Amino acid sequence: TAADTGLGSWPRRRARITPDRIALSLGTRTLTYAGLADRVSQLASAWEASGVRGGDRVAYLGPNDIPAFESLFAAALLGAVFVPLNTRLSPREIEYMLSDAGVSVLVLAPTHHHIAATLGQVPDTVRQVLALDSATCPLPCADYEQFLDGGDRAASFPPVGLNDPCLILYTSGTTGTPKGAVLTHGNLTFNTLNQLAHIDVLSTDRALGLAPMFHVTGLNQVILPTLFKGGTVNPVPQFDAAEVLATIARESITSFSAVPTILQMLCEHPDWDRTDVSSLRYIVYGGSPVLERVAAAWLDRGVQLLQGYGMTEAAAGVYMAVADGAAEHPISVGFPHFYTDVAVAENNNAAPMGPGRSGELLVRGPNVFAGYWNREEATEASFTEDGWFHTGDVVATAEDGWACVVDRVKDIIISGGENIYPAEVEAVLARYPGVVSAAVVGVPDAKWGEVGAAFIVTSGDADCDEKPVIDYLAEHLARYKIPKSFRFVSDIPRNATGKIQRAQLREVAAADAPAAAPVH
Ligand code: ATP
Ligand code: MG
Repeated sequence: TAADTGLGSWPRRRARITPDRIALSLGTRTLTYAGLADRVSQLASAWEASGVRGGDRVAYLGPNDIPAFESLFAAALLGAVFVPLNTRLSPREIEYMLSDAGVSVLVLAPTHHHIAATLGQVPDTVRQVLALDSATCPLPCADYEQFLDGGDRAASFPPVGLNDPCLILYTSGTTGTPKGAVLTHGNLTFNTLNQLAHIDVLSTDRALGLAPMFHVTGLNQVILPTLFKGGTVNPVPQFDAAEVLATIARESITSFSAVPTILQMLCEHPDWDRTDVSSLRYIVYGGSPVLERVAAAWLDRGVQLLQGYGMTEAAAGVYMAVADGAAEHPISVGFPHFYTDVAVAENNNAAPMGPGRSGELLVRGPNVFAGYWNREEATEASFTEDGWFHTGDVVATAEDGWACVVDRVKDIIISGGENIYPAEVEAVLARYPGVVSAAVVGVPDAKWGEVGAAFIVTSGDADCDEKPVIDYLAEHLARYKIPKSFRFVSDIPRNATGKIQRAQLREVAAADAPAAAPVH
């Protein structure tokens, strides 16, 4: 029989080398690699005995927590497909994902009982709800701990190969309905190798599992590489800036990955100045542009800040900064990953990407996904004939080889025939004194085709007015790039990956254009 190269074999393989090292640690609970391997075998064998088979979908609805890792590895060991659900979704959206993915087992945490209670209907594909707290679970269920306890820690399973599906991860839904990207064991393995080629992950690392596991940044950028190396992961069930800062200091955290808005919340928190973050060696971040002042705050503390650029479909990483030169290129995404090739789209063909080049990025490599779940047309439309994946993002490579993400093709505002990249205007706006964050979207305009509309959040005491903001923009940007309307708002809607929900803003801007009286 073939060798087992699946992700499910990781805990057992690690336990052969470092059985007593702590794999997972949360509060007073710790699990060694040997302990994790045993529990993963138990859960997988209990599932097998109850009829779960390779290819079946096992969903998890709950926070970053130890059972999430156990379920992931146990599903993988069986050859089943793990589907971590976005905990921020509404009951209707959860229902959609459960039935879209044809889930047969749902692992449910008590933090999400209220959602389970309001599910109109659990799709009939769901044969088992496995509750972490069965006593209070509102649905008919089995008890997770009891169920796991009935399994066999020495069970063996048929080998799982690199081409077998491992995860269905839903995209962020920034440009439409979230699509389920099917990631294979090979995609995840090669992404891990890619990360390790850029980052100095150590067996002594203590990584914080901060980003939610239902997005690709949560699992793939730092957590899987850390577990591969035998380090410790501290899952964070719920984000609270003060608590996270305290945990970093208390647990001597060495590393984590986060989206830029989280980095901003941490370094702009009142506790920041008195928190000892000297244990941190590196942070990987990405998902959306970072503000220069936020990058500077972390770099000033001596933390190596590595920006990554990627997407769910690439099992996360496509580009990443490297330690040498990262401080001199604070907002650059660096270089393509080790096993990943990039190109520029030219009439649906791949042209070489290199110094001085920019355009829509194409990507190809063993980390690039197998296709969207249940969406053959969307899958076909996203690849060129030669198998390059269309990222939909404009990337520019500087003469020194360091690349920057310019913006999404779909977000570009075409005004009087000129291209405006919202990210560029937003970055300038964010430098204006008192501006906390800003968003610019395109709205239809009779004269120009499209014009920019700005949404600006200021800090409570800042005195911001349209006129001086326009003067400031005029100093830094070509005239046509200056938005035609400004709204001072209390908040900019973002999704769980910190991405601006532009569709919502476009609706607001289109509904009351020209700008009504600003609200504060
Ligand atoms: P959907 O595909 O459903 O519209 P999404 O593209 O936002 O949602 P993700 O896969 O979570 O879903 O995000 C990938 C996208 O995030 C990339 O295509 C890119 O637009 C953006 N992105 C990722 N990293 C960076 C970065 N470092 N800087 C700027 N943008 C980034
Ligand atoms: Mg996308």
